[in-house]
Amino acid sequence: MKADGEDVCSFGAGEPDQDTPEYIKQAAIEALNSGKTRYTASSGIPELRKAIAQKLKDENGLNYDWKEVIVNCGAKHSCYNALLATIDPEDEVIIPAPYWTSYPEMVKMVGGVPVPVQTKLENGYKITPEQFEDAMSPKTKLIILNSPNNPTGAVYSKEELIALGEVAASEDILILSDEIYEKLIYGGAEHVSIGSLSDELQKLTITVNGFSKCFSMTGWRLGYSAAPEPIARAIDTIQSHTTSNPTSFAQYGGLAALAGDPQITADMAQEFDMRRQYMLQRFNSIANIRVVEPQGAFYFLVNIGQMGLNSVNFAEKLLSRMKVALVPGIAFGDDNTVRLSYACGLDVIKEGLDRFETFCKSH
Ligand code: PMP
Repeated sequence: MKADGEDVCSFGAGEPDQDTPEYIKQAAIEALNSGKTRYTASSGIPELRKAIAQKLKDENGLNYDWKEVIVNCGAKHSCYNALLATIDPEDEVIIPAPYWTSYPEMVKMVGGVPVPVQTKLENGYKITPEQFEDAMSPKTKLIILNSPNNPTGAVYSKEELIALGEVAASEDILILSDEIYEKLIYGGAEHVSIGSLSDELQKLTITVNGFSKCFSMTGWRLGYSAAPEPIARAIDTIQSHTTSNPTSFAQYGGLAALAGDPQITADMAQEFDMRRQYMLQRFNSIANIRVVEPQGAFYFLVNIGQMGLNSVNFAEKLLSRMKVALVPGIAFGDDNTVRLSYACGLDVIKEGLDRFETFCKSH
C-alpha cells in the first residue's frame, strides 16, 4: 500500500528505527580495508569470543570460558543451532505463549515437539512455576525463556527466574535464554540472566544474545550463544558444516560495538521509553482494549478480546479502513491480541494511535 502512495502508519517494525552507530560501521570498513575478507574460524574470531565472554561476565554475571562462546549469523541462527544441538526427535520443548513467532517453527524443524503454555495477562504474560511444572512430561528436554520478551515486553524478575530455575533444575531441563533485548529495558526493571543464578543453572543454560536490537545491527547478521562446553562444541560443529563463520568484517563491527560507549544504547532506550510512555497513556484511555505495561523490548501487546474480532480480522479491517498496520497475535500464539511496535517515529505513533482509537471506538 505504501508503494502505491497510500498513507499507512506502520507499527509492524521488528527492528530499531535508528542506523548502526558510526563507530561500528567504521570498524567494519577498516576490517575490509585491511584485508579481513577471508574465512575465520567457524566459531568466530577469538578476539570477539573473548570480548563476549568478558561482557557476559561483567554485565551478566555469567562465567563462560571464551571457548564456550560461539558467534553465529544472528540470534535467530543462535537459537536454531542451539535447538539442533540439543533436541532429539520427539523431545518436547516448553514455550511460554505469546512467543516469538520463530520458536515453535524451529522446534518442529529439528524434529522436536513444541509445547506452548498460555501465559495470562493478569500475570504480566509470564509463565509461572506451576504452569511450567504442569507442562512437563518425561519427554521435556528444554524450555525457551525470552526476557525482555517479544511480543509482550515482559521482563522476568530475579525472584521469578529463581523459581523457574528451581523447576528446571529439579528435572535437568535445559534452558534456552534469549536475551536479545537485554538493554532495552524501562521503568526501573532489571535484566537478569538466568544462567547467572547458580552454577547448576549455568550448566543447564544456553544464553543467546546478539547485536541486532541493542546496537541497531539487524542487517549485519551477528549473534552469539554461550553454553556448557559439549553443547558449545556441538553448535560449532553444526555451524562449521552449514554456514561456516559469521561474516568476517561484521565480526569486527561486533568487536567495536562491545568496546564502544554504552551511552549510545542507553540513549536509544531512552527514546523508546518516551514513546512507550506516550503509547501506554493513549492505550489506557481506550475503553475496549487491555494492555500490560511493557518493561522491555519495543512492543505493546494489546488484548482485543472484547472486540469480537480475531487478530487477523482486526488487523485486516484496521489496515483497510484506517491504514494502520500491525501484527496479528495469532503469529505469536494468541489470537486475542495484536502487536504494535514503537520502533517508529513519534509522529507516526501519534497519527497511528488517533486512527487506532477511532477504529476501536467505532467498532
Ligand atoms: N529473538 C527474538 C525474541 C527476536 O525478537 C529476534 C528478532 N526479531 C531474534 C531473536 C533474532 O535476532 P537476530 O536479528 O539477531 O537474528
